Amino acid sequence: MKKASDPPQPDPQDALAALQQKLAGLGESSMRKSYYPELQERLEELERFKALLDHSNESIFLIEVSTGRIVDLNDAASRQTGWSRDELLQQSLFDLSNLQQSPAAEALVRSPEETGSVRMLAVTELHRKDGGRFPAEITLNRMQFRENSYVLAVARDITQRKAMEEALRESEEFLKNIVDHIPAVVFAKEVQGLRFVTINKACQEVFGLSRAEVLGRTNYDLFPKEQAEFFTKMDRETLAKGELVEVPEETITTANGDRILRVKKIPLFDNQGKERFLLGIAEDITERKQLEEKLLQSQKMEAIGQLAGGVAHDFNNILMVILGYGSILLNEGALPARQKEQVEQIMNAADKAAKLTSDLLAFSRKQVIKPATMNLNDIILHVEKFLSRIIGEDVQLKARLAPRELQVDVDRGQIEQVLINLATNARDAMPKGGLLTIETSSLQIDEAFVQANGIGAPGPYAVISISDTGVGMDEQTRRRIFEPFFTTKIVGKGTGLGMSIVYGIIQQHNGFVNVYSEPQLGTTFRIYLPFSEKSADRALEPQAPDTPPGGVETILVVEDEPDLRLLLQNILSGAGYRVLLAENGQVAVEQYAAGARGEIALVLMDMIMPGMSGKEACHAIRAIEPAAKVLYTSGYTMDIIKSRDLLEEGTELLMKPVRPLELLKKVREMLDR
Ligand code: ADP
Ligand code: MG
Repeated sequence: MKKASDPPQPDPQDALAALQQKLAGLGESSMRKSYYPELQERLEELERFKALLDHSNESIFLIEVSTGRIVDLNDAASRQTGWSRDELLQQSLFDLSNLQQSPAAEALVRSPEETGSVRMLAVTELHRKDGGRFPAEITLNRMQFRENSYVLAVARDITQRKAMEEALRESEEFLKNIVDHIPAVVFAKEVQGLRFVTINKACQEVFGLSRAEVLGRTNYDLFPKEQAEFFTKMDRETLAKGELVEVPEETITTANGDRILRVKKIPLFDNQGKERFLLGIAEDITERKQLEEKLLQSQKMEAIGQLAGGVAHDFNNILMVILGYGSILLNEGALPARQKEQVEQIMNAADKAAKLTSDLLAFSRKQVIKPATMNLNDIILHVEKFLSRIIGEDVQLKARLAPRELQVDVDRGQIEQVLINLATNARDAMPKGGLLTIETSSLQIDEAFVQANGIGAPGPYAVISISDTGVGMDEQTRRRIFEPFFTTKIVGKGTGLGMSIVYGIIQQHNGFVNVYSEPQLGTTFRIYLPFSEKSADRALEPQAPDTPPGGVETILVVEDEPDLRLLLQNILSGAGYRVLLAENGQVAVEQYAAGARGEIALVLMDMIMPGMSGKEACHAIRAIEPAAKVLYTSGYTMDIIKSRDLLEEGTELLMKPVRPLELLKKVREMLDR
């Protein structure tokens, strides 16, 4: 025995030696004979026991508490640490491991009294002779043997288990990474309470919630009641069926607004074939749905436009026949008064029908447009007065125009038509009065805007926003306003063509219209017109204020209103022109005839004057000089704006009140033709 005290389970080798000593002391052979088999048996038992310990895969150490020394160990301890038995017997368990990092283990092994637990499991590292270390799980067992306290330490090498755990963790991480990066919403719920147990990144984004806010919650915790009921119903249905169920469209209300999802729900089974989880894979189709709707809408408009255009075209021919024969009948002169009146009624009705077909043609884009490059702000300034007359006294009109020029290629008359139609609708929407705001601005439209709205092409645009504080529209109405003949107004009040004409005109100008409306709050229309190519480069740069262009040519001003005549004279002579004045058409024609040929470079003439009208005067002047240039000015009546199409070659129309700069520009432009 190497030690003073007896270990509780002596080394079998030592035990054998001790037995042999005892046997040697036995004198009597008879005694020896009767003891021997029993001893032999005990010996074998001990040897078996030792072999058992030595062949164990676990290192076993016996530690004496009073000294802290290892007092016995098995073969596996040497095998695993690389130290010989003798070397190990020189060390303490704390030299051999990282156990000193565990206060509980320290207490269990080192405290002289038995305090607290007598048994514990610790995961630590064992040190090898070659300097290496390996992870080990150690069971410490404190026990009393005779007068002494011992700790039996059984250490198991867990390198492999650790490696497997690590591999498992890595593969879990890998899978989690994959699931997180799938560009689809992925979630799983346990089947009992349908509580979320997993969600991926896309799911967090769509829900607008963090993992912590979702895990452990049910549909009812996260979504409005009706939605939660529907989701739960589909979840249960999927589990009952035991196979994939597809929900083509479901709306979820989230912090980020409503999202539309296409969802596949799949039951997941355990080894016994029992449902454990419900897996959900969903695609956020909100944007796609919106684009599809826009596309459908524009296809519908296209089709309706073609149909309307076709009908209007044929109808026009029929109307020409009706109107043609009608006027022949009227000109006959032989008709009795009563019948003449009836034919006139027919003609009136046919005229109205002709107006309708021309509106339809405007919508179906079959009307020819005559675009010219001009500043959108000027167009609005022109019609502003007229618009305020349309909307009446109870509605206030406010115009806020962009400080810079918004050069666009447009048919002025048509853009004016658009503004008139919008103002008319605004008036109808504000029977008790309100505010109509017209704003202009510029906007650089990028690819993202085009994608998000499904309209237009990238580039610089001029924008007109027209807002009213009227009754607004609900979603259903809003979807249909551009359809020809769609109206919510009483018979006789609305034709349902106004907005379809707006749509047609803007389309034809390569622009687009947006509408925003809230019932009871009002409506805003936004019209986007592409900047003129000619000015696109400088379109978005601030512009220097214009200096009015002038000249030295002779201009004949024909105006019956004396104050206005004087004003025009001042403006024109101020810009260097020589100015001749006439107070009516008759005088104008005489003046023109008196002048030398080509002396009068331009006639500036009011369209409506007492006596000879502007148009008649123009005809007379043209009889003298067919190439005479005539610029009309006009007050604001719808008819005059409409009659613009009837203007002859070499004539133009300016609307009153004519602004000086505008006038000078137009004059210069016409002189330079
Ligand atoms: P109409 O004015 O003849 O009814 P429109 O094509 O101009 O035809 O307009 C169609 C419909 O769109 C209107 O009947 C109305 O319901 C709706 N609408 C258009 N503009 C507005 C607006 N500013 N406010 C409210 N509703 C409007
Ligand atoms: Mg209308």
